[in-house]
Amino acid sequence: MDTQRQVVDRLRSAFRSGITIPEQFRQTQLTMLMAMIQDNEEQILNALHKDLAKPKFEAIMSEIDIAINELHYAIANLTSWMKPEYAGTNLATKLDDCSVRREPLGVVLIIGAWNYPLQLLILPLIGAIAAGNCAVIKPSEVSAATDSLMAELIPKYLSQDCYAVVSGGAEETKALVQNRFDHIFYTGSQTVARSILRAASDHLTPVTLELGGKCPCLIYGQVNMASAAQRLVWSKYFNAGQSCAAPDYVLCSQATRDALLPALRQTLEDFYGKDPQTCPDVSRIVSPRHWTRLMDLLGRSRGKVVVGGEGNQEDKYIAPTVVVDVAEDDALMEEEIFGPILPIITVESLQEGIDFVNRKEKPLALYVFSEESSIVNAVLEKTSSGGFCSNDGIVHMTLPTLPFGGVGASGWGSYHGRWSFETFSHRRAVMLRGWALERLNSLRYPPYSEQKLSW
Ligand code: NAD
Repeated sequence: MDTQRQVVDRLRSAFRSGITIPEQFRQTQLTMLMAMIQDNEEQILNALHKDLAKPKFEAIMSEIDIAINELHYAIANLTSWMKPEYAGTNLATKLDDCSVRREPLGVVLIIGAWNYPLQLLILPLIGAIAAGNCAVIKPSEVSAATDSLMAELIPKYLSQDCYAVVSGGAEETKALVQNRFDHIFYTGSQTVARSILRAASDHLTPVTLELGGKCPCLIYGQVNMASAAQRLVWSKYFNAGQSCAAPDYVLCSQATRDALLPALRQTLEDFYGKDPQTCPDVSRIVSPRHWTRLMDLLGRSRGKVVVGGEGNQEDKYIAPTVVVDVAEDDALMEEEIFGPILPIITVESLQEGIDFVNRKEKPLALYVFSEESSIVNAVLEKTSSGGFCSNDGIVHMTLPTLPFGGVGASGWGSYHGRWSFETFSHRRAVMLRGWALERLNSLRYPPYSEQKLSW
């Protein structure tokens, strides 16, 4: 088996050969990537079920369909994305041909996370291929079944000279990032992001960071509680709450909370039945370590569990849980929950809710539920977040026309659709100048004079 170094060297010499530059090569690889997913859908679904007990419906929606849609979008738009973008000129450059060319960066590294183990590898890979790069792909070892399936399938479908899967855990990834890459695209936690950044700094490698954080959901003013509960429950408990942009906590007034709770109870029962552990639509926590982390957070919380709270270690199951009377300094507010536990924090006024959000790091997504557009607009205007969605959760991520990414501590850079192509491209400023008008140039040549300045 090749060492990591040999893999990177192989890809680098393929990149230098220029094989990835023609559009036809990129289109073929994108088409093969689509074939890989379509031909092996059953195996992919099985791997996702093994890793997270992902319900087939959720796996198709959030892993397979989203990847296929992005592939269709990239294949349909690549010709126009690759076209040079003509730039305006001024009097002194009137005769020049000025444009911005999108050029590939070189050999890039894509490090995926375990919660959407297919999507989080394939979507950046689409951008890397479309932009003409070679790529090393590092799946998360935590979602082991999808990791080994990708290691088996990707070399069967994509050019082995240009794309390679390197598997491994923290130690292997630490060694991998010692190599020189032209870009690192990292999805995962803020803690690991810091060590990726330190390693990248040795080679001055630019980095995209797709991180997480605590995404708030503010509920204020007039709201239809039944609909609000359905949208909140779906977006929070999808994939057992293990979504980077899942609503992490709710901010609302006491009166809203009292109206919301019965609607939440009813919705949870409608969606998952009286015993959610037996419901096939409830995913499992990815690993014993994360199960213990979540149960520990719940155990240390001083809030009151009003729905759920049960867990089964052997089954890596945690019931969809709602906790009220949660204080700002509660254990549940210390870190991103990343599991099926929803704290509700009461602050009476909308302004207090906005101030609460603004005291924290900027989140990956921010949600506001209200029928009053003045409330939605006030939250939009007075806060900052990677993405924003009113009256629903996580759905804004599914649109390839919207950039997906964080801001500040929730991430650097963005992707999806054209933004993936841009992330993996260098925008090269090109001025094609001829030899005309040399007499005009003499105005900027020495000897300088006051008279030349006045031109
Ligand atoms: P993880 O454990 O799968 O780690 C992510 C990647 O980092 C893996 O490939 C892993 O092998 C690698 N890694 C782990 N330790 C490392 C180390 N010490 N050095 C180098 N590499 C290392 O995933 P995680 O970190 O538990 O991910 C969860 C976090 O990711 C959450 O905060 C979540 O919000 C965030 N996330 C963000 C997005 C997004 O698109 N913004 C998507 C999914 C998850």
